Amino acid sequence: MSFLFRDQSWPQIQEHIDKHSLLILPVGTTEEHGPHLPVDTDARIAEAYGLGLAEALAPDLPLLLMDAIRYGYSMKIMKQWPGTIVVRSRVFMDLIYDVCFSALEMGFDKLAILDCHGHHSGPLNTVSRELCDATDKAVAIISPAGLSRDEFNAVRQSPQGGAIHAGEWETSLLLHLSPEVVDMSKATDEDTMRYHSDFVAGDGFQGRQRVTWSTWYLQESQSGCYGAPTCATAETGKVVMEAAVANGARFLREYWEKR
Ligand SMILES: [Zn+2]
Repeated sequence: MSFLFRDQSWPQIQEHIDKHSLLILPVGTTEEHGPHLPVDTDARIAEAYGLGLAEALAPDLPLLLMDAIRYGYSMKIMKQWPGTIVVRSRVFMDLIYDVCFSALEMGFDKLAILDCHGHHSGPLNTVSRELCDATDKAVAIISPAGLSRDEFNAVRQSPQGGAIHAGEWETSLLLHLSPEVVDMSKATDEDTMRYHSDFVAGDGFQGRQRVTWSTWYLQESQSGCYGAPTCATAETGKVVMEAAVANGARFLREYWEKR
């Protein structure tokens, strides 16, 4: 039996609604990721993460995995390099709202969004609150970065500021998932994040930022990277994906059972 939403007929969808199946919606985007990674890096991670979670949970938890959203919102700074497709933030929020609202309105009551792109965290957070206001159903948002942070920090090789956009974390994941689309001969650490302070963390893996301030404009990246990709390995990528799946599955089981 397939756990892909797109493979179901409407009676099969109804059966899933009747047994309170968990819906999983992976959300990535399409944007440049330096000279060494493909532009679909976030979307590729989103799809792989959705599949990993579905395979981990499906044996004993009813669920359906939706097709990934592959386009989203990026700041203008990312358009310096070709390959970045930008959906305006409000259009993106409306798209996610309508996709999720349709699912909740037809009867699903447990829906988890997989947030696989940094610029989406604010918009997705707001949309989940709006959906709750409209339907009295609480959508969950989980991110593979957040759910692999401790395990990644235990094995990371890069210095502070090395693990953001196209840096050690993402490059490791791609080396694990799709080494054939990674060109490590083009990877450079020249754009490891330079600005650090008591208020702004070097990268998102070193603790919660105490203020909101994008320092990407200070970075003046030449390569399109914001991190240190040469530290990446497939082994680190495997650690990251396994941790994100194990922790994510544990949370989603808790989210599904609580009603
Ligand atoms: Zn990315």
